Amino acid sequence: MNIIVCVKQVPDTTEVKMNPETNTIIREGVESVVNPFDAFAIEEGLKIKDVYGGKVTALSMGIPDAVQMLKEILALGVDDAVLLSDRKFAGADSLATAYALSLGVKKINDFDLIICGKQATDGDTAQVGPSLAEKLGISHCTYVSHIEEIGSDYIRVKKLVDDGYEIIELSLPAVITVEKGINRPRIPSIKHFKNALEKEVLIWTTADVAADSQLIGLSGSPTQVVRTFIPQYNKEIQILEGTPDQQAKDLMEKLAAENFLGCE
Ligand SMILES: Cc1cc2nc3c(=O)[nH]c(=O)nc-3n(C[C@H](O)[C@H](O)[C@H](O)COP(=O)(O)OP(=O)(O)OC[C@H]3O[C@@H](n4cnc5c(N)ncnc54)[C@H](O)[C@@H]3O)c2cc1C
Repeated sequence: MNIIVCVKQVPDTTEVKMNPETNTIIREGVESVVNPFDAFAIEEGLKIKDVYGGKVTALSMGIPDAVQMLKEILALGVDDAVLLSDRKFAGADSLATAYALSLGVKKINDFDLIICGKQATDGDTAQVGPSLAEKLGISHCTYVSHIEEIGSDYIRVKKLVDDGYEIIELSLPAVITVEKGINRPRIPSIKHFKNALEKEVLIWTTADVAADSQLIGLSGSPTQVVRTFIPQYNKEIQILEGTPDQQAKDLMEKLAAENFLGCE
């Protein structure tokens, strides 16, 4: 069973800072790590490989610096790592990211299952997995919390929903996005660490994957960030005095004065 795991390098912080002038993420001075949700995706891929054989390939789109992250992923026992890296990919929204990743997947070619994290901790849209499936014309399932069964041409998964879970069967090849807690990610072993030292991360440019320049980077991104800002909290607290009736009357008057009641 050949598996591709999509991994994104994200800032090692929960407080992503944006440059208000350029509307891009400020990465300077912030260490980068593998997206925490993708650690579960990698482990799930490795667990499937442990049982069914085959190989696991990590695929990322990002800056050249992401090679280091991919080397660390190779040390977990992942067989190959591919980085889509080219200035022309920069500024991609989730659609352009999914398109670029779909080209990487097509070039890797031999796969049965693609595993993504549930979401990235910086962009946070959770759109890339489903968009990637659409670009490839294959089925997908999000919020997978357990893999129930894998057959020769299907996978049955447990999908978390608001009021419980659903059991979904997908024909292979397919894309799944996994929840945190689906497994406990392993740590690198000495054997795999040594193997990883000998392995190269493949770096593919836009030319290598024959990307359509209209569908990548900023020009391929229908979402445009017009402005980013940190909300200003100018809260003013007023204590209402008097009897409960008086306080209720005052409150109604204040809400009406602020037009919160939608009436005079
Ligand atoms: C208009 C616009 C401009 C932007 N410009 C920039 C910019 O200049 N610089 C910048 O850094 N970001 C930029 N972003 C953010 C960027 O679009 C997202 O980071 C990216 O599209 C992925 O979306 P997400 O982070 O929401 O991923 P999600 O959809 O939340 O991620 C889900 C899963 O998809 C996979 N995945 C997501 N991204 C990748 C990836 N790159 N490689 C491999 N797997 C991946 C992972 O498995 C991940 O767990 C921009 C976004 C918009 C809307």
